[in-house]
Amino acid sequence: MLNFDQLRKIIPISAKAQTLLSIPEKEISFQIRIHIDKKMFNFDAYAVYYNTVRGPAKGGIRFAPNVTLEETRDLSERMVYKTALVDIPFGGGKSGIRIDTSKFDRFDIGYIVKEYVNVLSRDLNTNTYIPAPDMGSGPLEMMVIYGETHIPESVTGKPISVGGLPGRNEATGRGAAITAKESALSFLDKPLNEIKVAVQGFGNVGSFAGYFLSDWGMKVVAVSDFKSGIFNPEGLPIHDLMKYARKDGVFTNLNIGETITNADLLTLDVDILIPAACENVITVDNADDIRAPIIIEAANGPTTPEADKILQKKNIKVIPDILSNSGGVIASYVEWHQGKSGSLTEVSETYAVIDKLIVRNFKLIKDMAENLNISYRDAALAISVKKVTTAMEDRGWI
Ligand code: NAD
Repeated sequence: MLNFDQLRKIIPISAKAQTLLSIPEKEISFQIRIHIDKKMFNFDAYAVYYNTVRGPAKGGIRFAPNVTLEETRDLSERMVYKTALVDIPFGGGKSGIRIDTSKFDRFDIGYIVKEYVNVLSRDLNTNTYIPAPDMGSGPLEMMVIYGETHIPESVTGKPISVGGLPGRNEATGRGAAITAKESALSFLDKPLNEIKVAVQGFGNVGSFAGYFLSDWGMKVVAVSDFKSGIFNPEGLPIHDLMKYARKDGVFTNLNIGETITNADLLTLDVDILIPAACENVITVDNADDIRAPIIIEAANGPTTPEADKILQKKNIKVIPDILSNSGGVIASYVEWHQGKSGSLTEVSETYAVIDKLIVRNFKLIKDMAENLNISYRDAALAISVKKVTTAMEDRGWI
Protein backbone atom coordinates (compact mmCIF):
# COMPACT_ATOMS: atom_id res chain seq x y z
CA MET A 1 0.00 0.00 0.00
CA LEU A 2 2.99 2.34 0.36
CA ASN A 3 4.44 4.22 -2.58
CA PHE A 4 7.96 4.74 -1.22
CA ASP A 5 9.05 7.09 -4.02
CA GLN A 6 6.08 9.31 -3.32
CA LEU A 7 6.61 9.20 0.47
CA ARG A 8 10.33 10.02 0.17
CA LYS A 9 9.32 13.41 -1.23
CA ILE A 10 7.77 14.10 2.19
CA ILE A 11 9.85 12.18 4.78
CA PRO A 12 13.18 10.34 4.76
CA ILE A 13 12.84 6.53 4.58
CA SER A 14 16.05 4.47 4.66
CA ALA A 15 16.54 1.44 2.42
CA LYS A 16 16.57 -0.78 5.53
CA ALA A 17 13.25 0.65 6.72
CA GLN A 18 11.76 0.12 3.25
CA THR A 19 12.85 -3.54 3.34
CA LEU A 20 11.17 -4.15 6.71
CA LEU A 21 8.01 -2.24 5.75
CA SER A 22 7.68 -4.17 2.48
CA ILE A 23 7.25 -7.62 4.00
CA PRO A 24 4.99 -8.90 6.78
CA GLU A 25 6.65 -10.30 9.89
CA LYS A 26 4.48 -13.41 10.02
CA GLU A 27 1.80 -15.03 7.89
CA ILE A 28 -0.19 -18.11 8.84
CA SER A 29 -2.42 -20.04 6.42
CA PHE A 30 -4.52 -22.73 8.04
CA GLN A 31 -7.71 -24.72 7.75
CA ILE A 32 -10.57 -24.87 10.16
CA ARG A 33 -11.83 -28.45 9.95
CA ILE A 34 -15.14 -29.14 11.57
CA HIS A 35 -18.20 -31.37 11.42
CA ILE A 36 -21.61 -29.70 11.40
CA ASP A 37 -24.71 -31.91 11.22
CA LYS A 38 -22.45 -34.87 10.38
CA LYS A 39 -21.08 -33.02 7.35
CA MET A 40 -17.39 -32.12 7.11
CA PHE A 41 -16.30 -28.56 6.33
CA ASN A 42 -12.80 -27.18 5.64
CA PHE A 43 -12.65 -23.41 5.87
CA ASP A 44 -9.51 -21.65 4.62
CA ALA A 45 -8.26 -19.18 7.20
CA TYR A 46 -5.39 -16.69 7.46
CA ALA A 47 -3.66 -14.56 10.06
CA VAL A 48 -1.06 -11.91 9.23
CA TYR A 49 0.99 -9.93 11.75
CA TYR A 50 2.44 -7.31 9.44
CA ASN A 51 4.54 -5.25 11.84
CA THR A 52 4.63 -5.33 15.63
CA VAL A 53 7.38 -2.83 16.33
CA ARG A 54 4.97 -0.51 18.21
CA GLY A 55 3.04 -3.24 20.05
CA PRO A 56 1.05 -6.47 19.65
CA ALA A 57 -0.59 -7.23 16.29
CA LYS A 58 -4.06 -5.70 16.42
CA GLY A 59 -6.77 -6.16 13.83
CA GLY A 60 -10.18 -7.63 13.16
CA ILE A 61 -11.31 -11.05 11.99
CA ARG A 62 -13.14 -11.02 8.69
CA PHE A 63 -15.74 -13.66 7.89
CA ALA A 64 -16.51 -13.53 4.17
CA PRO A 65 -16.71 -15.96 1.24
CA ASN A 66 -13.96 -14.15 -0.67
CA VAL A 67 -11.31 -13.82 2.08
CA THR A 68 -7.75 -14.39 0.75
CA LEU A 69 -4.23 -14.26 2.15
CA GLU A 70 -3.48 -11.20 -0.02
CA GLU A 71 -6.51 -9.33 1.33
CA THR A 72 -5.62 -10.28 4.93
CA ARG A 73 -2.06 -9.06 4.35
CA ASP A 74 -3.29 -5.75 2.93
CA LEU A 75 -5.71 -5.19 5.83
CA SER A 76 -2.99 -6.08 8.33
CA GLU A 77 -0.61 -3.56 6.74
CA ARG A 78 -3.28 -0.85 7.00
CA MET A 79 -3.53 -1.56 10.74
CA VAL A 80 0.19 -0.77 11.17
CA TYR A 81 -0.35 2.79 9.97
CA LYS A 82 -3.80 3.24 11.52
CA THR A 83 -2.54 2.43 15.02
CA ALA A 84 0.58 4.57 14.52
CA LEU A 85 -1.37 7.53 13.16
CA VAL A 86 -3.61 7.78 16.21
CA ASP A 87 -0.81 6.90 18.67
CA ILE A 88 -2.26 3.61 19.89
CA PRO A 89 0.49 1.26 21.20
CA PHE A 90 -0.37 -1.62 18.87
CA GLY A 91 1.09 -3.07 15.70
CA GLY A 92 -0.81 -4.25 12.64
CA GLY A 93 -2.52 -7.61 12.33
CA LYS A 94 -5.58 -9.15 10.72
CA SER A 95 -7.18 -12.54 10.28
CA GLY A 96 -9.88 -13.94 8.08
CA ILE A 97 -12.01 -17.02 7.57
CA ARG A 98 -13.34 -17.81 4.11
CA ILE A 99 -16.97 -18.57 4.86
CA ASP A 100 -20.48 -17.62 3.81
CA THR A 101 -21.95 -16.98 7.28
CA SER A 102 -25.52 -16.89 5.93
CA LYS A 103 -25.39 -20.70 5.65
CA PHE A 104 -24.68 -21.27 9.37
CA ASP A 105 -26.42 -20.49 12.63
CA ARG A 106 -24.81 -18.81 15.66
CA PHE A 107 -23.99 -22.15 17.28
CA ASP A 108 -22.18 -23.38 14.16
CA ILE A 109 -20.27 -20.09 14.04
CA GLY A 110 -19.38 -20.61 17.70
CA TYR A 111 -17.82 -24.02 16.89
CA ILE A 112 -15.90 -22.50 13.99
CA VAL A 113 -14.54 -19.71 16.20
CA LYS A 114 -13.50 -22.25 18.85
CA GLU A 115 -11.46 -24.10 16.24
CA TYR A 116 -9.93 -20.80 15.08
CA VAL A 117 -8.87 -20.15 18.71
CA ASN A 118 -7.46 -23.65 18.93
CA VAL A 119 -5.13 -23.02 15.97
CA LEU A 120 -4.03 -19.54 17.11
CA SER A 121 -4.11 -20.32 20.85
CA ARG A 122 -0.48 -19.47 21.54
CA ASP A 123 -0.72 -16.04 19.92
CA LEU A 124 -4.08 -15.28 21.54
CA ASN A 125 -3.01 -16.41 24.99
CA THR A 126 0.20 -14.39 24.92
CA ASN A 127 -1.37 -11.15 23.60
CA THR A 128 0.76 -11.51 20.44
CA TYR A 129 -2.36 -11.03 18.30
CA ILE A 130 -5.47 -9.29 19.63
CA PRO A 131 -8.52 -9.79 17.37
CA ALA A 132 -11.61 -7.57 17.08
CA PRO A 133 -14.70 -7.54 14.83
CA ASP A 134 -14.49 -6.85 11.10
CA MET A 135 -16.84 -7.55 8.21
CA GLY A 136 -19.10 -10.49 9.03
CA SER A 137 -18.06 -10.75 12.69
CA GLY A 138 -19.22 -8.99 15.84
CA PRO A 139 -19.56 -9.24 19.63
CA LEU A 140 -20.80 -12.87 19.48
CA GLU A 141 -17.60 -14.16 17.88
CA MET A 142 -15.44 -12.05 20.21
CA MET A 143 -17.30 -13.47 23.21
CA VAL A 144 -16.51 -17.02 22.03
CA ILE A 145 -12.80 -16.12 21.83
CA TYR A 146 -12.89 -14.71 25.36
CA GLY A 147 -14.78 -17.82 26.48
CA GLU A 148 -11.86 -19.91 25.25
CA THR A 149 -8.91 -17.80 26.47
CA HIS A 150 -10.47 -16.48 29.72
CA ILE A 151 -8.18 -13.45 29.30
CA PRO A 152 -10.18 -10.19 29.13
CA GLU A 153 -7.52 -8.33 27.12
CA SER A 154 -7.04 -11.17 24.59
CA VAL A 155 -9.84 -9.84 22.36
CA THR A 156 -11.75 -6.58 21.94
CA GLY A 157 -15.28 -5.90 20.70
CA LYS A 158 -16.76 -8.24 23.33
CA PRO A 159 -20.40 -7.79 24.41
CA ILE A 160 -20.75 -5.37 27.32
CA SER A 161 -22.17 -8.21 29.43
CA VAL A 162 -18.83 -10.05 29.26
CA GLY A 163 -16.23 -7.36 29.73
CA GLY A 164 -16.89 -5.36 26.59
CA LEU A 165 -16.57 -1.61 26.38
CA PRO A 166 -19.59 0.70 26.36
CA GLY A 167 -19.34 2.44 22.97
CA ARG A 168 -17.10 -0.16 21.23
CA ASN A 169 -19.89 -1.48 19.01
CA GLU A 170 -20.57 1.93 17.49
CA ALA A 171 -16.96 3.19 17.73
CA THR A 172 -15.89 2.82 14.09
CA GLY A 173 -19.09 4.50 12.87
CA ARG A 174 -18.64 7.23 15.47
CA GLY A 175 -15.09 7.85 14.24
CA ALA A 176 -16.21 8.03 10.61
CA ALA A 177 -18.99 10.43 11.61
CA ILE A 178 -16.59 12.67 13.56
CA THR A 179 -14.24 12.71 10.55
CA ALA A 180 -17.17 13.68 8.31
CA LYS A 181 -18.27 16.42 10.70
CA GLU A 182 -14.75 17.89 10.99
CA SER A 183 -14.42 17.80 7.20
CA ALA A 184 -17.78 19.56 6.80
CA LEU A 185 -16.79 22.25 9.30
CA SER A 186 -13.36 22.71 7.65
CA PHE A 187 -14.18 22.45 3.95
CA LEU A 188 -17.85 23.30 3.40
CA ASP A 189 -19.33 26.73 3.73
CA LYS A 190 -22.76 25.50 4.89
CA PRO A 191 -24.55 24.87 8.19
CA LEU A 192 -24.57 21.21 9.24
CA ASN A 193 -28.33 20.85 8.68
CA GLU A 194 -27.86 21.59 4.96
CA ILE A 195 -25.15 18.99 4.44
CA LYS A 196 -26.21 15.91 2.48
CA VAL A 197 -24.45 12.61 3.04
CA ALA A 198 -24.64 9.27 1.19
CA VAL A 199 -23.47 6.12 3.00
CA GLN A 200 -22.63 2.92 1.13
CA GLY A 201 -22.95 -0.19 3.34
CA PHE A 202 -25.37 -0.31 6.25
CA GLY A 203 -23.63 -2.81 8.52
CA ASN A 204 -21.83 -1.97 11.73
CA VAL A 205 -19.77 0.95 10.40
CA GLY A 206 -22.20 2.51 7.90
CA SER A 207 -25.29 2.35 10.09
CA PHE A 208 -23.60 3.95 13.11
CA ALA A 209 -21.89 6.60 10.95
CA GLY A 210 -25.37 7.51 9.65
CA TYR A 211 -26.82 7.36 13.17
CA PHE A 212 -24.40 9.94 14.60
CA LEU A 213 -24.52 12.21 11.56
CA SER A 214 -28.30 12.36 11.62
CA ASP A 215 -28.21 12.94 15.40
CA TRP A 216 -25.92 15.92 14.76
CA GLY A 217 -28.45 17.33 12.29
CA MET A 218 -26.84 16.36 8.99
CA LYS A 219 -29.05 14.88 6.25
CA VAL A 220 -28.25 11.27 5.46
CA VAL A 221 -30.03 11.11 2.10
CA ALA A 222 -28.94 7.67 0.86
CA VAL A 223 -27.87 4.34 2.32
CA SER A 224 -27.36 0.89 0.81
CA ASP A 225 -26.50 -2.69 1.58
CA PHE A 226 -24.98 -5.19 -0.81
CA LYS A 227 -28.30 -5.74 -2.59
CA SER A 228 -29.83 -2.29 -2.99
CA GLY A 229 -30.12 1.24 -1.66
CA ILE A 230 -32.64 3.88 -0.76
CA PHE A 231 -32.56 7.63 -1.49
CA ASN A 232 -34.58 10.55 -0.19
CA PRO A 233 -33.22 14.09 -0.80
CA GLU A 234 -34.98 15.31 2.37
CA GLY A 235 -33.07 12.82 4.56
CA LEU A 236 -33.78 9.28 5.78
CA PRO A 237 -35.01 8.18 9.24
CA ILE A 238 -31.77 6.42 10.17
CA HIS A 239 -32.89 5.17 13.60
CA ASP A 240 -35.92 3.42 12.02
CA LEU A 241 -33.78 2.06 9.19
CA MET A 242 -31.36 0.53 11.68
CA LYS A 243 -34.20 -1.40 13.33
CA TYR A 244 -35.51 -2.41 9.91
CA ALA A 245 -32.10 -3.50 8.55
CA ARG A 246 -31.46 -5.65 11.59
CA LYS A 247 -34.78 -7.43 11.16
CA ASP A 248 -35.30 -7.63 7.41
CA GLY A 249 -31.83 -7.08 6.00
CA VAL A 250 -32.48 -5.30 2.73
CA PHE A 251 -33.99 -1.99 1.69
CA THR A 252 -36.72 -3.07 -0.68
CA ASN A 253 -40.42 -2.20 -0.58
CA LEU A 254 -39.89 0.74 1.78
CA ASN A 255 -42.11 3.76 1.27
CA ILE A 256 -39.63 6.32 2.51
CA GLY A 257 -37.61 6.97 -0.62
CA GLU A 258 -36.61 5.92 -4.08
CA THR A 259 -34.87 2.55 -4.57
CA ILE A 260 -31.36 3.01 -6.02
CA THR A 261 -28.43 0.77 -6.89
CA ASN A 262 -25.01 0.87 -5.23
CA ALA A 263 -23.63 2.37 -8.44
CA ASP A 264 -26.24 5.19 -8.29
CA LEU A 265 -25.40 5.89 -4.64
CA LEU A 266 -21.71 6.48 -5.31
CA THR A 267 -22.41 9.15 -7.92
CA LEU A 268 -25.19 11.07 -6.13
CA ASP A 269 -24.99 14.86 -5.92
CA VAL A 270 -24.20 15.02 -2.19
CA ASP A 271 -21.71 16.95 -0.05
CA ILE A 272 -20.11 13.92 1.56
CA LEU A 273 -19.82 10.33 0.33
CA ILE A 274 -19.02 7.64 2.90
CA PRO A 275 -18.07 4.26 1.41
CA ALA A 276 -18.56 1.98 4.45
CA ALA A 277 -19.00 -1.43 2.81
CA CYS A 278 -15.87 -3.05 1.42
CA GLU A 279 -12.70 -2.57 -0.66
CA ASN A 280 -12.31 -1.32 -4.21
CA VAL A 281 -15.73 0.22 -4.80
CA ILE A 282 -14.35 3.50 -6.20
CA THR A 283 -12.47 2.52 -9.34
CA VAL A 284 -11.41 3.97 -12.70
CA ASP A 285 -14.88 3.01 -13.94
CA ASN A 286 -16.78 5.37 -11.64
CA ALA A 287 -14.24 7.88 -10.20
CA ASP A 288 -14.94 10.40 -12.96
CA ASP A 289 -18.66 10.33 -12.16
CA ILE A 290 -18.30 11.00 -8.44
CA ARG A 291 -19.83 14.35 -7.54
CA ALA A 292 -19.32 14.56 -3.78
CA PRO A 293 -16.49 17.04 -2.97
CA ILE A 294 -15.53 15.02 0.15
CA ILE A 295 -15.07 11.26 0.56
CA ILE A 296 -14.70 9.74 4.03
CA GLU A 297 -13.18 6.26 3.66
CA ALA A 298 -15.03 4.41 6.42
CA ALA A 299 -14.38 1.02 4.77
CA ASN A 300 -10.84 -0.26 4.43
CA GLY A 301 -9.36 0.49 1.01
CA PRO A 302 -12.55 1.55 -0.80
CA THR A 303 -10.58 3.58 -3.40
CA THR A 304 -8.21 1.92 -5.85
CA PRO A 305 -4.87 3.74 -6.42
CA GLU A 306 -5.84 4.56 -10.03
CA ALA A 307 -9.19 6.00 -8.93
CA ASP A 308 -7.40 8.00 -6.22
CA LYS A 309 -5.40 9.84 -8.91
CA ILE A 310 -8.60 10.74 -10.77
CA LEU A 311 -10.23 12.01 -7.55
CA GLN A 312 -7.15 14.12 -6.80
CA LYS A 313 -7.29 15.71 -10.26
CA LYS A 314 -10.95 16.52 -9.63
CA ASN A 315 -9.92 18.17 -6.32
CA ILE A 316 -12.09 15.79 -4.33
CA LYS A 317 -10.88 15.63 -0.74
CA VAL A 318 -10.38 11.98 0.22
CA ILE A 319 -9.94 11.49 3.97
CA PRO A 320 -8.13 8.13 4.14
CA ASP A 321 -9.29 4.99 5.90
CA ILE A 322 -6.38 5.00 8.34
CA LEU A 323 -7.95 8.05 9.97
CA SER A 324 -11.63 7.74 9.00
CA ASN A 325 -12.18 4.26 10.41
CA SER A 326 -9.70 4.45 13.29
CA GLY A 327 -12.52 4.87 15.85
CA GLY A 328 -12.75 1.09 16.19
CA VAL A 329 -9.13 0.53 17.08
CA ILE A 330 -9.10 3.56 19.38
CA ALA A 331 -12.02 2.06 21.33
CA SER A 332 -10.32 -1.34 21.19
CA TYR A 333 -7.32 0.18 22.92
CA VAL A 334 -9.61 1.56 25.65
CA GLU A 335 -11.24 -1.89 26.00
CA TRP A 336 -7.84 -3.64 26.14
CA HIS A 337 -6.70 -1.18 28.79
CA GLN A 338 -9.94 -1.75 30.74
CA GLY A 339 -9.42 -5.54 30.48
CA LYS A 340 -5.84 -5.33 31.75
CA SER A 341 -6.55 -2.89 34.57
CA GLY A 342 -10.02 -4.00 35.63
CA SER A 343 -11.26 -0.41 35.43
CA LEU A 344 -14.77 0.52 34.26
CA THR A 345 -15.45 2.98 31.44
CA GLU A 346 -18.49 5.15 30.71
CA VAL A 347 -19.71 5.40 27.12
CA SER A 348 -19.07 9.16 27.22
CA GLU A 349 -15.38 8.45 28.00
CA THR A 350 -15.10 6.10 25.01
CA TYR A 351 -16.60 8.72 22.71
CA ALA A 352 -14.36 11.42 24.19
CA VAL A 353 -11.17 9.45 23.42
CA ILE A 354 -12.31 8.68 19.85
CA ASP A 355 -13.33 12.28 19.19
CA LYS A 356 -10.14 13.74 20.69
CA LEU A 357 -7.71 11.51 18.77
CA ILE A 358 -9.53 11.82 15.45
CA VAL A 359 -9.99 15.60 15.60
CA ARG A 360 -6.36 16.12 16.65
CA ASN A 361 -5.01 13.94 13.83
CA PHE A 362 -7.46 15.35 11.28
CA LYS A 363 -5.98 18.78 11.97
CA LEU A 364 -2.38 17.51 11.69
CA ILE A 365 -3.13 15.79 8.37
CA LYS A 366 -5.02 18.80 7.01
CA ASP A 367 -2.21 21.22 7.94
CA MET A 368 0.46 19.01 6.39
CA ALA A 369 -1.56 18.40 3.21
CA GLU A 370 -2.28 22.09 2.77
CA ASN A 371 1.25 23.29 3.64
CA LEU A 372 2.97 20.80 1.31
CA ASN A 373 0.22 20.68 -1.32
CA ILE A 374 -0.10 16.90 -1.08
CA SER A 375 -3.11 14.60 -0.71
CA TYR A 376 -4.66 13.88 2.68
CA ARG A 377 -3.73 10.22 2.16
CA ASP A 378 -0.05 11.01 1.58
CA ALA A 379 -0.01 13.32 4.61
CA ALA A 380 -1.60 10.67 6.84
CA LEU A 381 0.79 7.96 5.62
CA ALA A 382 3.84 10.20 5.98
CA ILE A 383 2.93 10.98 9.59
CA SER A 384 2.38 7.34 10.49
CA VAL A 385 5.30 5.85 8.52
CA LYS A 386 7.58 8.30 10.34
CA LYS A 387 6.30 7.01 13.71
CA VAL A 388 6.84 3.38 12.66
CA THR A 389 10.37 3.98 11.31
CA THR A 390 11.30 5.91 14.48
CA ALA A 391 10.07 2.95 16.58
CA MET A 392 12.13 0.56 14.42
CA GLU A 393 15.22 2.71 15.04
CA ASP A 394 14.48 2.92 18.77
CA ARG A 395 14.17 -0.88 18.99
CA GLY A 396 17.37 -1.39 17.02
CA TRP A 397 15.61 -3.09 14.11
CA ILE A 398 17.25 -0.76 11.60
P1 NAD B 1 -20.62 -5.44 8.14
O1 NAD B 1 -20.50 -6.85 7.69
O2 NAD B 1 -21.25 -5.14 9.45
O3 NAD B 1 -21.41 -4.57 7.04
C1 NAD B 1 -21.00 -4.47 5.70
C2 NAD B 1 -22.13 -3.75 4.94
O4 NAD B 1 -21.70 -3.54 3.59
C3 NAD B 1 -23.45 -4.53 4.86
O5 NAD B 1 -24.52 -3.61 4.84
C4 NAD B 1 -23.35 -5.22 3.48
O6 NAD B 1 -24.64 -5.48 2.96
C5 NAD B 1 -22.64 -4.14 2.70
N1 NAD B 1 -21.85 -4.65 1.57
C6 NAD B 1 -21.00 -5.72 1.55
N2 NAD B 1 -20.46 -5.84 0.33
C7 NAD B 1 -20.96 -4.83 -0.42
C8 NAD B 1 -20.80 -4.42 -1.77
N3 NAD B 1 -19.99 -5.10 -2.60
N4 NAD B 1 -21.47 -3.31 -2.19
C9 NAD B 1 -22.28 -2.64 -1.35
N5 NAD B 1 -22.50 -2.98 -0.08
C10 NAD B 1 -21.85 -4.07 0.37
O7 NAD B 1 -19.12 -4.85 8.05
P2 NAD B 1 -18.52 -3.63 8.85
O8 NAD B 1 -17.92 -4.16 10.10
O9 NAD B 1 -19.51 -2.53 8.88
O10 NAD B 1 -17.27 -3.25 7.92
C11 NAD B 1 -17.42 -2.43 6.77
C12 NAD B 1 -16.07 -1.93 6.35
O11 NAD B 1 -15.46 -1.20 7.43
C13 NAD B 1 -15.04 -3.00 5.97
O12 NAD B 1 -14.20 -2.49 4.95
C14 NAD B 1 -14.25 -3.18 7.24
O13 NAD B 1 -12.94 -3.70 6.99
C15 NAD B 1 -14.18 -1.75 7.71
N6 NAD B 1 -13.91 -1.61 9.15
C16 NAD B 1 -14.74 -2.17 10.08
C17 NAD B 1 -14.46 -1.98 11.43
C18 NAD B 1 -15.38 -2.47 12.51
O14 NAD B 1 -15.15 -2.11 13.69
N7 NAD B 1 -16.42 -3.22 12.22
C19 NAD B 1 -13.31 -1.27 11.82
C20 NAD B 1 -12.49 -0.72 10.84
C21 NAD B 1 -12.79 -0.90 9.50
